[in-house]
Amino acid sequence: MQLLKMMGFAWNVVCRALASVVAALMAVTGVVAATAVTWNRTAGVDEPAVPLSVNYHFTRQCNYKCGFCFHTAKTSFVLPLDEAKRGLTMLAEAGMKKLNFSGGEPFVRDGGRFMGELIKYCKTELRWAGISISIVSNGSLIQEKWMRQYGEHVDMLAVSCDSFNADTNRTIGRQQGARTDHVAKLYQVREWCGQYKIAFKINTVVNTYNIDELFVEHIDRLRPVRWKVFQCLLLEGENAGEGALRNAARFYVTDEQFDGFLRRHAEVQTLVPETNDAMRDSYLILDEYMRFLNCRNGKKEPSASLLDVGVQHALRGSGFDEQAFLERGGVYLWSKQQMSEAELEW
Ligand code: SF4
Repeated sequence: MQLLKMMGFAWNVVCRALASVVAALMAVTGVVAATAVTWNRTAGVDEPAVPLSVNYHFTRQCNYKCGFCFHTAKTSFVLPLDEAKRGLTMLAEAGMKKLNFSGGEPFVRDGGRFMGELIKYCKTELRWAGISISIVSNGSLIQEKWMRQYGEHVDMLAVSCDSFNADTNRTIGRQQGARTDHVAKLYQVREWCGQYKIAFKINTVVNTYNIDELFVEHIDRLRPVRWKVFQCLLLEGENAGEGALRNAARFYVTDEQFDGFLRRHAEVQTLVPETNDAMRDSYLILDEYMRFLNCRNGKKEPSASLLDVGVQHALRGSGFDEQAFLERGGVYLWSKQQMSEAELEW
C-alpha cells in the first residue's frame, strides 16, 4: 500500500513537471498541446484541471435580441477593470493559455475599451504567460479605430452570422433596429481583420430559420480560418424554462436536421461542427463575477468567484469535462504567430 502511495506521488510529481514543461513550450512557441489539461487525470489524483482555455463572459448586455441567446442580459454588472485584471492574473498563474472574450456583446462596454485594456494587459503585463486572445462578437459595434488601437494584440476574432438573408436575421433577432445590415458589417469586419492581421472566424447557430440555407458561396468569399457551426442549444433559465428571458424552443433543431445541414456543407474545409452533446460540459465559462458556470444539469449554476476563493477552488464547481473539451477539438492553433500570412490576409 505504502509502495503504491509512493508510486502515485512520484507519478504526480512527474506529471506536474511535464505540465510545466508543456506550458513553457506553449508560451515560447504558441503551439498548444493536450497534455497540460490532462496531466492530473492521468495521475489519478483528485485535483482540478489546469484552466487551459477560458471563456470570459464579462458582460451580459447586448444590443441584439437573438431569440435563442443562451447568455442573456440578466444583470448589467461588470467588474471594475482592476478586479478583472486581478482575476486574469490569477488565471494566468494557474496555467491559462487561451482567453476568449464573449458576452453578451463585448463591444457594448465603452465601445470595446474595457475589453481592449484587458487584452493589452494580457499581452503586455502577462506576456510571460503566453496567452492567446480571441473574441466572439456580433460585429455590429466594432469600429476601425478599435482595430487600429488593439488589433495587434488579438489573435482571433469570431463574428456571429446565422444567415446572409436580411429577413432571416430580422426573424432571428440578429439586428439592432430596422436599419442594421448585419451582413455588410460582417464583410467590413472581415476586411479589417485582413488589414490588421487578425485571424477571422465565423460562428453560426443552426436553427429552424436557417436550416435550409446554403452558406457555401459566402464562406468561400469570406475565407474564415474556422467556421464554427453550432446546433441551437436549450439551457434552462437562459433560453428555456421558468425565469428565462428567452424561449428558444421554436429555434431548436434535431440531431438529424443538424446532420443534414452539415452534409450539405461537407465541402467547406474550415467547418467545425458542434452538437449539443459536444458543447454542454466542454467549455470553461466564466461569468461577469468571475464565477465558473456549471452546465451539467442543463442550466448554468455558478461556482464561487475565483476572486474570493482562488482558481483551484472555483474550478471544482465548474462542471468542466476536460475529456469532452479535448474530444470536441478544443485545442487547436490559437496563436496568430503560428498561422500563415495567407490565412491572415483578405
Ligand atoms: S448577439 Fe450573441 S449575446 Fe447578443 S443576443 Fe445574439 S446570441 Fe445573445
